[in-house]
Amino acid sequence: MTDLSRRAALILAGAAAAAPGLALAADPALPTTWDLTRLYPSDAAWEAERQAVEAELPRLLAFKGRLGESAATFRAASEAISAVVKRQLRLFVYATLKADEDLGVAANQERRQTANALNAKVGEATAWVSPEVLAMGAAKVGAFLKSDPALAKFRFGYESTLRQAPHTLDDAGEALLAAASNPLNGPQAIRSQLVLTDIPWPEVEVSGRKLRLDLQGYSQARAAPDRAERKKVFDTFFGTFKRYESSLGAALGAKIDGDVFNARARKYPTALAAAVDGPNIPESVYRTLVAEANRGLPILHRYFDVRRRMLGLPDMAYYDLYPPVTKLDAKFDLAASRRISLEAMKPLGPEYAEAFARATAAPWVHVYPQKGKAAGAYVFGAAYDVHPYMLLNHTDDYESLSTYAHEWGHAMHTLLAQKAQPFELAGYPTFTAEVASTVNEQLLVAHMLKGAKTRDERLFYLDRVCEMMRATFYRQTMFAEFELAAHEAAERGEPLSGKRLSAIYLDLLKRYHGPKVAVEDTYGIEWAYPSHFFNYNYYVYQYATSVTAASAFAERILTGKAAERDAYLAVLKAGGSDYPVDVLKRAGVDMTSPEPYRTLLGKFSRTLDEMETLLG
Ligand SMILES: [Zn+2]
Repeated sequence: MTDLSRRAALILAGAAAAAPGLALAADPALPTTWDLTRLYPSDAAWEAERQAVEAELPRLLAFKGRLGESAATFRAASEAISAVVKRQLRLFVYATLKADEDLGVAANQERRQTANALNAKVGEATAWVSPEVLAMGAAKVGAFLKSDPALAKFRFGYESTLRQAPHTLDDAGEALLAAASNPLNGPQAIRSQLVLTDIPWPEVEVSGRKLRLDLQGYSQARAAPDRAERKKVFDTFFGTFKRYESSLGAALGAKIDGDVFNARARKYPTALAAAVDGPNIPESVYRTLVAEANRGLPILHRYFDVRRRMLGLPDMAYYDLYPPVTKLDAKFDLAASRRISLEAMKPLGPEYAEAFARATAAPWVHVYPQKGKAAGAYVFGAAYDVHPYMLLNHTDDYESLSTYAHEWGHAMHTLLAQKAQPFELAGYPTFTAEVASTVNEQLLVAHMLKGAKTRDERLFYLDRVCEMMRATFYRQTMFAEFELAAHEAAERGEPLSGKRLSAIYLDLLKRYHGPKVAVEDTYGIEWAYPSHFFNYNYYVYQYATSVTAASAFAERILTGKAAERDAYLAVLKAGGSDYPVDVLKRAGVDMTSPEPYRTLLGKFSRTLDEMETLLG
């Protein structure tokens, strides 16, 4: 009933990787580490609580078969489960944060394992609930819900379960699908083995340094300033992947067949219909996104030409996308990041500002890189009775500032949702999560542009906007189109070889990058590079819809009045109390219509106008 996922810095993927020895002195008034004693005073207290929660599980199982007895029993069971899940999540937060402080401490890694095991045990102790609710049927559940106002907070969850009744199998069917999940995850493991251990990644020389061109090496080397070296990096990296095209293709083909199998077993017409049904996203959102991104391709192609000019190149190739075209010397330490973010979020009004100021001065954040610390950035807000916690790897550059604003978007979303909603309705789905963070990123860049004094500074921030459009809107939509094309081919019964997958991908690469960006045929294997296609099912489109909705909200907040701002705050406060597309629609952003996508593309186009003017 609560979203367990940790929200990494999806939009700024790759920002601020851990670099030991970078611990920087900051404003002494601002805490630089989180205070986990607010969760439990000691490790021993955590362990005692874990045992206490585990001892509760037989009580939950004792309700099995009794949900339909009476409204009173229904309520007692619902409340007992909720209370245990809330405690379980708090345990999980502590174990996760403690483990991520230093991945080298064995005791902390073991505690994380123990917490994972507890999550599984709670799952087993409550696995009977959904089938039993479905067996009771909508009429009986509805009558119970109506009879007792205290059950109101459980309504949305139970109604979601009942909504999916036509796609839920009988006990034997559900058991069979559960047992099939392990073999169906095989392709993911096969790709990991190939990529992490079996493929002999070659070494290349980049900027005078020898570098092993594995996944991590590639992500560093692809931005090489020397064009010939970049080409060599791309040719070598994708050329190596290409030699394993048939194995990787067999793995991805099997993964996609598994998605189609699951969808058909659950009586969905397509794998896409199955994937979007959980959060009740209309398929039209997916198809509108793809159609509008394609309509907006000429704007992306214009950006590539601006990039070409800024790089001083006679022509553009696919390997010219990553070297930075602008540079900013400014430093943003923790105090500056906070001060600037407080300023930039002012358009969100006094209620947000006050809570934001208080939260950012509290010991909720592990700020700086340190030896053994987890990389990246995330907010973990599942300790409902405490507050959200945040992991950063702040290195004082603009990416760090932007990540700070992004992650605080998540934390404020959590804070406002938890204040407005009971535990059962506070957890929000992925579809809205990245809206909150991306709105903050966009307000930040708007604020920085307002204060930019020199031409180079303006160009830097304008290019940040363009890169967000390229990497988060267009590229993720291109991935979404690839997933759709591959699944649809499987659904038509066409075999999916590595060669076929590369052909589909290469077509998309060429269409998205336009006639003036050279794309070598070898790069069609790029589908094997991101792990998403192997690990998830129709997931990445949500990055593109998030940046779209966020753009629409940011524009309304910056040009509108209190009503527009409050409509957006209502999205944050709604948490997980309703379906995400309905929550956004009520606030004036209809993701099934072309409008928000066109707002985004309009903004991209205006950004390019200004860049072209500045470049003369
Ligand atoms: Zn995020």
